[in-house]
Amino acid sequence: MSTATFPQAALFLADHRALDFLNTVAQVDGQPCDFWHSDDDVRAWLVEAGFSAGDETTDVLPGALLKEARALREIIRTLVAQKKAGKTVDAQPLNQFLAAVSSIKKLVADEQGGLEVQICYTGQTAARLLGPVAELAAGLIARAPFELVRQCEHPECTLWFYDRTKSHRRRWCSMALCGNRAKVARFRQQQK
Ligand SMILES: [Zn+2]
Repeated sequence: MSTATFPQAALFLADHRALDFLNTVAQVDGQPCDFWHSDDDVRAWLVEAGFSAGDETTDVLPGALLKEARALREIIRTLVAQKKAGKTVDAQPLNQFLAAVSSIKKLVADEQGGLEVQICYTGQTAARLLGPVAELAAGLIARAPFELVRQCEHPECTLWFYDRTKSHRRRWCSMALCGNRAKVARFRQQQK
């Protein structure tokens, strides 16, 4: 499998949504490829990821959601890299983002006829939609065992994942993508 066949749509293979968020930029043919080009792309990703994508578009300027999502993505990427490298984590940029997030709790009926406490994000659209992602990322940085947060071993791949396998020996973003690429490369090497 060559890099040319790398998918052209965002991938959900990280086993953690904050890392899937980072993986919306992937290396395609050796170049970083951003799967987001518009507010709608970000909204579509949020829906696919199981977050709320809201329904109001009027309270932000066009392009603001894309701009904020990309900014948050790089903030999280830097934090993950710092934590992974054992460096001091500069929480300030993420904290600024978290400060813009506000939420309220509501007691609502659940589907089984019981009650549940629901968190509703409020405020400006971009902060409201991206708030859950920022909070998830903060939780990951603070609590995840980072020996299990790794990047795909393929040298041309930059995708992150959270290794939740029992053996904790996951090496690839996915077997179908990089696992097979590595296998083919090894096979060719042996044929020489
Ligand atoms: Zn990979």
